[in-house]
Amino acid sequence: MTSETDGAARRIARWQQRAGRHHLPWQGTRDPYRIWLSEIMLQQTQAATVIPYYERFLAAFPDVRALADAPADAVMHAWAGLGYYARARNLQRCAQTVRDRHGCRFPEDPEALAELPGIGPSTAAAIAAFAFGARRPILDGNVRRVLARYFAVEGDPASSAVVRRLWDHAHALLADAPPDLDMRAYTQGQMDLGAMVCTRRKPDCARCPLAADCQARLQGRQHELPSPRARRARPERDGLMLILECAGRILLRKRPPTGIWGGLWSLPQFETSAELRAACAALAPGAGAPVALAAFDHEFTHFRLRIAPWRLHCRGEPTPPAPGEAWTPVAELDRLGLPAPVARLLVGLYTATRP
Ligand code: SF4
Repeated sequence: MTSETDGAARRIARWQQRAGRHHLPWQGTRDPYRIWLSEIMLQQTQAATVIPYYERFLAAFPDVRALADAPADAVMHAWAGLGYYARARNLQRCAQTVRDRHGCRFPEDPEALAELPGIGPSTAAAIAAFAFGARRPILDGNVRRVLARYFAVEGDPASSAVVRRLWDHAHALLADAPPDLDMRAYTQGQMDLGAMVCTRRKPDCARCPLAADCQARLQGRQHELPSPRARRARPERDGLMLILECAGRILLRKRPPTGIWGGLWSLPQFETSAELRAACAALAPGAGAPVALAAFDHEFTHFRLRIAPWRLHCRGEPTPPAPGEAWTPVAELDRLGLPAPVARLLVGLYTATRP
């Protein structure tokens, strides 16, 4: 039973055992590969969204060697739609590092885990806790919110000063906890509290194991904390995309390895209509002028991309593709890891040829 006299860490662990989540597909395993995969997928993405991707990913890449050895395109395809593609690139780099430097075994030490590509200190601590029972605090986005409320920490939760204070609190909670604290339940409990009880808009303090001494609740400030992030105007960018179709094939270009949609196949993109028209003249001489389709917005974390699609049918056979280009049969578009808005655009245009 949870007692109000227990320290906060013990209360969280006991609450998790009694009322937390126990049936997520990545629970009940101590396999660091599966745990690591779930932790990376869960960064900035909710569990319900992650579950089908996680299951498909594991079916395609059942262990770290399979992922390390896979073609990059296959990894991108399995990831496509989850967003934040740097995570997918780092995922495979991390698998390759584990294969090459650690003989396909994830290190147990959280510091060594945190040196792997794409794994920060909080993710390293979570993997080490779930896989090896390590005693380290975590501080993901949900936990920041819970701790900012529990300790009534003011200030922009993304600022480094506030993050440092929250880390100090996270360490102190663990330092005060008894030596037999169940680290798996405690770590999962913090995540579950943030996802199920101390949610951003509707903290359900009546169900919360921290309610007795939560400073935000005692001060009636649950809805004020954490302080709102300093708002910055989200800049807008324009991107013109060319849908060039020739003999039932679409011209795709591989994006540079870094930057948005890095390493994914996508439509050729241009900054100005003059550039787009010049490309049409070179790629499809005599095909006439491209036709503008309805533009739409796609939101990234730091900016909004206004996508203006243009379409052109060329006659005859396609020109030989340049390096990094491919004429892809319309029926095979769904085999590639296209960026989500590009996939939606093409699905809308070619629904009849796609499942
Ligand atoms: S008591 Fe309320 S505000 Fe405080 S941690 Fe629990 S749910 Fe969040």
